[in-house]
Formats: sequence, structure tokens, C-alpha cells
Amino acid sequence: MGDARFITSAFRRSGWPPPDAPEVAFVGRSNVGKSSCLNTLVGQHKLARVSKTPGRTQAINFFDVGTAQRPLCFADLPGYGFAKVPASVKKTWDRMIGEYLAERDALALVVVLVDLRRDPAALDRKMVDWLGECDRRGLLVLTKADRVSKSRRISHQARICKGLGVPKEASMLYSSHEDIGRKELWRRIREATR
Ligand code: GDP
Repeated sequence: MGDARFITSAFRRSGWPPPDAPEVAFVGRSNVGKSSCLNTLVGQHKLARVSKTPGRTQAINFFDVGTAQRPLCFADLPGYGFAKVPASVKKTWDRMIGEYLAERDALALVVVLVDLRRDPAALDRKMVDWLGECDRRGLLVLTKADRVSKSRRISHQARICKGLGVPKEASMLYSSHEDIGRKELWRRIREATR
């Protein structure tokens, strides 16, 4: 993998970069650990910080993480589930993400992040259902696995998969703090973008 490079922030379709590389999108509730996941995956702390700068948190932020031999793009979708977000922002989010999931030609995989410690929320369910409706390949990445004892990880994973109607094979554990799942996630990304 080469250096990750910020491409652009887009609020609407006209802002999407040309679909020149297979793309992997990352989405999840705010605070789920999405930025940490992106940073540890790419090994660059500044990467997802871009997505947290004022003015960019509600945009889709695109990153070139490929090499000359293996082009690859990451799309960091704005987090959902902020408690105090006005209805107008939620509506804009729905429209923007709906359009992206339905129409982005280069999109090969959608990584949905859910906290391994928590029961999935209605918005997680909505996201998973949406992927089904758009016929998109999804991967459930269960974050903060270091916070759950080893003996309980599998049962948490099973409960979340059941709650979301996702087969266990389409899920995996991840931790940014303990280096759990990093290699596996790369393997799955490569497999989906071959
Ligand atoms: P985002 O809002 O989804 O981008 O979440 P962040 O990556 O900013 O993380 C939110 C909080 O969760 C921060 O306090 C992180 O330090 C913490 N966090 C993220 N990943 C992990 C993890 O794998 N393990 C633990 N224990 N904490 C994490």
C-alpha cells in the first residue's frame, strides 16, 4: 500500500471524484471508532482527521490509498446517530448516502462499523437493510473488541449479527488499540476489490 492521500470532500454527486479505482466505503454511528479504524488500517494518524475538520464532518471524504499497481479508494461517510442533530441534517444525510449507495459505480464494499459492546441501534439496522436494497456487498466490522473479554467476543458477535440479520461470515472483530483484525480487514478489502 502506498501513502494515503486526501482527494476531496463531497456533499453531492457532482463532487464525487471520477470512479477510477475500486472504492470501499466506511460508515457507522458517531464515536464507533471509524476514524481510529481508518487511521490504523492505513497507518497514518492524519488521514481520518481530515474528515473531522469543521466543514467536512457532514461530507463524504475520499482518500486515495492505492498504488500504481493496485488502485484503491476509501470513502469515509459521515457518522450517523448524533443525538442533537436537527431533522434537516438527518434528511440531507439520508439523501446524500442514499444517492451514494445507489449510484456510485466504483463502490465494491461497504464497511459498517458497530461497537462490539453494544446492541445495534435502529440506524445500524437501517444501514444494513439499505445495503440489501441497493444490492451492495457489506462487511460488519465490530469495533473496540479489546473492551470485551476474549471469552465473550464470540457471543457478542453472534448477538449483533442476529440482531442485524447479517451472517457471521460477513462480520469480523476489530480493535484499533490492540491490533485485532487489521490484517483480516485488509484481506477482505483486497478480496472485494480484486
Ligand atoms: P469516530 O467518531 O467513529 O470516528 O470514532 P473515533 O475513532 O474518533 O473514536 C471514538 C472514541 O473511541 C475515541 O475515544 C477512541 O479513542 C475510542 N476508540 C476507537 N477505537 C477504539 C478501540 O479499538 N478500542 C478502544 N478501547 N477504544 C477505541
